[in-house]
Formats: sequence, structure tokens, C-alpha cells
Amino acid sequence: MNAPDFADILAARRRIAPHVLRTPLGRSDTLSARLGAEVFLKHEHRQTTGAFKLRGATNALLALPAERRAAGVTTASTGNHGRALACAARASGVRAVVCLSRLAPPNKVAGVEAMGAEARVIGESQDEAMVEARRLVAEDGMTLIPPFDHPDVVAGQGTCGLEIVEDLPDLGTVLVPLSGGGLIAGVALAVKTARPAARVVGVSMARGAAMAASLRAGHPVEVREEATLADSLGGGIGVGNRVTFPMVRDLVDDVIELDEPAIAEGIRWAYRVEGEVIEGAAAVGIAALLAGKAAPRGPTVALLSGRNIDMELHRRIVCSDTPWEG
Ligand SMILES: *Cc1c(COP(=O)(O)O)cnc(C)c1O
Repeated sequence: MNAPDFADILAARRRIAPHVLRTPLGRSDTLSARLGAEVFLKHEHRQTTGAFKLRGATNALLALPAERRAAGVTTASTGNHGRALACAARASGVRAVVCLSRLAPPNKVAGVEAMGAEARVIGESQDEAMVEARRLVAEDGMTLIPPFDHPDVVAGQGTCGLEIVEDLPDLGTVLVPLSGGGLIAGVALAVKTARPAARVVGVSMARGAAMAASLRAGHPVEVREEATLADSLGGGIGVGNRVTFPMVRDLVDDVIELDEPAIAEGIRWAYRVEGEVIEGAAAVGIAALLAGKAAPRGPTVALLSGRNIDMELHRRIVCSDTPWEG
């Protein structure tokens, strides 16, 4: 598996354009005033299926030869990738089986089924759900579309970065939620090609940040998975990671880790000030700015990556006036 290049992102955009939304970039007047810098929000939480993952899943699915597509696709996912693959598969009349761990919140399981895919809830971790997906590949001839460590997935996510530099040619800093690194690898490839001077900063939760730990170690390592408000950032990067770890290591300027109260503040700000419902994973860019952990250098974009949060949890977070204790 070779790392994608900029041409792959351009090809991905042509391929997926009929199936995904071009999401808006909006200036945040309040964050700009508070930080004394131009701050913009990339409204990718408004993407079809509620997260950017539709870009990568659609690109990987459409890149398959017809006979592979006919045998169906499968994946193991904490939710948003599974939902995205289900949606992409349905749009092309392809069978999809999504394997999720028992840690996945119920709204995400329901989301997968509502998209017309078979949801298989199995195992206590992302890795155990993955074993089942591999079995479907070996025994049923399905094709595994992984959530991040695949060149076509990374190229698809890169289309989001392309839109950012087109809409904001003098981009200075982009803050990107970081888990397995598919999103930030694609965004960094697009941004660093179009605007080499721009800084690309990854933001993760402190609880179980696998990519941050792997960068420190110099190779992919496993970390213990813990419950976090940023549940879409949970899970490892895979000890056999081939595509995203080297890309993140080579292209990303900095990685920030946030505690749970800071992430809750990001969700709260998005709702109360910006009028946006976003999930914890999507709130980390705003949260890093509010916590003073990310200095905006030049025009700064926080990428809001998804909106799929349990609405009862969301209500508890935004209604509370005390720091979040989880
Ligand atoms: C998957 C996901 C991320 C992290 O993306 P990676 O490619 O795994 O780094 C961030 N936010 C949301 C909403 C996601 O679903």
C-alpha cells in the first residue's frame, strides 16, 4: 500500500463529487474576537451521514473493480466510518456488513442499521470487532474498507483539506481532530501541497491517544482504550499501520492532547455561541483554542468533523454550568 499523493486527492474529488457535500467554511466572529485572530470553522459536521468519513468510504468503494464490489464490503468501526460505508454502499447497491465493538454508543449502531447495512455488535474492543471483519473477508470474499489506514480512504478525506485551502488561500493554521490519522493525513497532504507555509496541528483526547503515543515512541504502539467524550477518536492506529503513521509523522507539525473538561467546553461553545450541535471528537479544535493550547498563527481553521452525539449526553453537557466531570 503506497501513500497517496496530491493527484490522488484530485482524482478522489472527481470520483466522489456526486455523492458528498462540499461543506461551508464560516468565519467565527466570536472566536476571532476572543483570540485576536481570524478564526474559521469548517462545517464538516453537516456532511451527509453527519461526519467527514463519507468522503473516504465513498472514494475507496468507487475505486474497487466491479467484481469486488459485487461480493460486498465490510469494516470494523466505532460508528461514523461504519455509517459512512453503509451509506456509500447503499448508494451503489452494494452489500455492507459493519462490525462494531460493544463500546460503540447505541445511536451509532442504530445509525448503521438505518443506513441499510447489517450491524454486527461483537467484542470488547475495536480490535476484536476487526477479527470478525477479517473472517468475513476470508470466508465470504468481502472487501475490507478500513476506517483510516488505506490510501483511497486518506485521499478521500483529503478532499476536505482541498476545500479549506480553496476557500481560505492564506490559511495559516488548521486544527484537525486526530485518531487513526486518516483525516489529518489527507488534509495535511492537500494543505502542504497547496500552501506549504500553513501549519497542520492534530488534536486528540488525553485519554488513550494512540497516534500521539506512537509518535513519541517512533513506531505504532497500542494504548488502552478508555471512555471519552470524544468517542470517535477512540481506538488504536494498528500496530501494522502502513499509511497514516508515516504521513502524520512527516506532515503534521504538532499534536495537542486535551482533557475531558476542555472537550466539554468545546461542545458547549459550539452550541451556545455558534449554534452548532457537534460531537466531542469534532469539538477538539475549538476546545484547544479556548484552552489556550493552540496558538492561532495566521488565519486559523478548526475542522468540525462530525455531529453524531447522543442527544441526551449533549443536553447534559450544554445545560451544565460547572466544569464537566464525566
Ligand atoms: C473518525 C473521526 C475522527 C478521526 O479521524 P481519523 O481519520 O481516525 O484520525 C474525528 N472526528 C470524527 C467525528 C470522526 O468520526
